[in-house]
Amino acid sequence: MHLDDIIKLINGGCMKKRDERRLAENEVIFKQINKDVDGFLHDVGVQNLLVTPFYCECSSLECRERIELTPAEYERIHKSLRHFIVLPGHQIPAIEQVIEQRDNFNVVEKKTEIPSPSEVRHRLKELK
Ligand SMILES: [Zn+2]
Repeated sequence: MHLDDIIKLINGGCMKKRDERRLAENEVIFKQINKDVDGFLHDVGVQNLLVTPFYCECSSLECRERIELTPAEYERIHKSLRHFIVLPGHQIPAIEQVIEQRDNFNVVEKKTEIPSPSEVRHRLKELK
């Protein structure tokens, strides 16, 4: 079985158990973690130089894979709150649309409502 098919199966299974909103929350959580890293690199002034392994911001709660890009690029993509970076095949067409394809990742735009920062903080506490 091809890796992409396995990922599709995993994501398909998740869709049955979790509603779309929860999927969106998970993506926002990883985006928040990535933003903290990005903020730090920005502060030390290496945002254009250092290719950094950011977390994949897909909906799978189990995904801990990384996507390498420079913090400057990361900041450019995330100017919109609805945009997330995911590995190819990690997108879920029911809740998001691929708007940009790169060699090692896709940029997706969310169709669903984005959870508020307080909801995300609540979910982060649950995970700890
Ligand atoms: Zn992923």
